[in-house]
Amino acid sequence: MRTSPNGLKPIHVVGGGLAGSEAAWQIASRGVPVVLHEMRPIRMTAAHKTEGLAELVCSNSFRSDAAETNAVGLLHEEMRRLGSLVMRAADDNQVPAGGALAVDRVEFSATISAALEKHPLVTVSRAEIAGLPPADWDNVIIATGPLTSPALADAIRGISGEDSLAFFDAIAPIVHRESIDMSVAWFQSRYDKTGPGGSGNDYINCPLDRAQYDLFVDALVSAEKTNFHDWEASTPYFNGCLPIEIMAERGRETLRHGPLKPFGLTNEHNPTEKAYAVVQLRQDNRLGTLFNMVGFQTKLKHGEQVRIFRAIPGLEKAEFARLGGLHRNTFLNSPKLLDDTLRLKSMPRLRFAGQITGCEGYVESAAIGLLAGRFAAAERLGDEPALPPVTTAHGALINHITGGHVPSIDQGPSSFQPMNVNFGLFPPLTAPAPKGPDGKRLRGTEKTMAKKRMITGRALNDLDQWLAHPVHEAAE
Ligand SMILES: Cc1cc2nc3c(=O)[nH]c(=O)nc-3n(C[C@H](O)[C@H](O)[C@H](O)COP(=O)(O)OP(=O)(O)OC[C@H]3O[C@@H](n4cnc5c(N)ncnc54)[C@H](O)[C@@H]3O)c2cc1C
Repeated sequence: MRTSPNGLKPIHVVGGGLAGSEAAWQIASRGVPVVLHEMRPIRMTAAHKTEGLAELVCSNSFRSDAAETNAVGLLHEEMRRLGSLVMRAADDNQVPAGGALAVDRVEFSATISAALEKHPLVTVSRAEIAGLPPADWDNVIIATGPLTSPALADAIRGISGEDSLAFFDAIAPIVHRESIDMSVAWFQSRYDKTGPGGSGNDYINCPLDRAQYDLFVDALVSAEKTNFHDWEASTPYFNGCLPIEIMAERGRETLRHGPLKPFGLTNEHNPTEKAYAVVQLRQDNRLGTLFNMVGFQTKLKHGEQVRIFRAIPGLEKAEFARLGGLHRNTFLNSPKLLDDTLRLKSMPRLRFAGQITGCEGYVESAAIGLLAGRFAAAERLGDEPALPPVTTAHGALINHITGGHVPSIDQGPSSFQPMNVNFGLFPPLTAPAPKGPDGKRLRGTEKTMAKKRMITGRALNDLDQWLAHPVHEAAE
């Protein structure tokens, strides 16, 4: 095993995927030796096909590269400024894809494997870590992803005290609050209950009359669904959650007596008429910019979701931060279990990174790997790990994982779910939106684009300042 000229003990990174490869690179770039443990090809996962580091298991797209107007494009740009290996390999192996950044997956993985394998401070060890990392590994990053091997998943479950780690995500769609028509919808908790931490006005309610409800049920039953992979079919449903379209198939009234029940709610726009059914949306982040559709976990194709959910009164112009889905995943209840630098509170020598922490997507996983690598290296060098400002895409994402989520205010399961980076995770702007060249207020798409530019401009400015003077800033 290689040691650094300054005799530093190595950091161990478990999992050579998107997050683990980026973490290892960041650590080595800071002069700290690192051992990257990857179980492939000795043990494969159900989705990986090669032994290459940072293999892309499905699409070859890193999504939009528009740093000014798209949250994942902004994340790309921030990662470039932070010296990301994953972004360098993506840029070097780009294939034409319009405004998206898509890559040649074979060359991308080969570039990353070569960079790590020839780095003098990196040792790549091909072996499964089939239990808790040995006690003398004092600084470990676990980045084993959604398909973490069962032996390690069991060990993590044992120390985290959680019932389950691998399950179907109950992913309900998430809607940007400002796209909901509040002249139709209204704020109210069922029976005005306040609950722990609630106000009695915690849900946004969208009313359906009898005809609208019937059309909605028919649309759900006849809509196009996605299929499970064979290897997903053996995984249990998380907390017995059922897709909304399966509930609709069980009987015309099932949803009305389940997630769409109208009881204990009065439409403030039409108090004398009882809605036949009510769709409820629950606040999803502390900022109050995102709301999730309660009970709307679904296997419907994305296009079908948009079409059917925009037929709900109040959601005609809904913008979705995330659409619903059900797929096998492995992730921690991070807001409860991890500290603000991604360490397991009950065993701080273990830090987590990538999709297992509750982010979603190749780029987000690599970005969290990048931060975990910086934090771990800082710790090894005796420095205080510096958190990125919450106004940056990195800060917004880690804040979602470790702190920004609102715990469930009713009796339901914890609603923390993996999430792609999106503008709903950023703190609102404090300055007013700019005016048009004629001095008039901007409207519609122009206003939305101007606000996005302000958010991304603020992010890159704050990132540059942070890079120049990294200080430990607690996540809000
Ligand atoms: C079927 C499927 C399709 C997906 N499609 C997309 C998509 O199209 N676009 C997108 O952006 N995201 C997609 N994702 C999500 C994607 O997996 C993640 O975004 C990303 O790969 C996660 O990065 P990661 O580094 O956390 O995990 P991974 O990239 O999966 O890396 C984890 C690594 O850890 C290794 N490992 C696991 N257990 C052990 C162990 N015990 N010891 C040693 N090594 C171990 C694995 O072999 C793997 O190399 C998909 C996920 C799945 C499961």
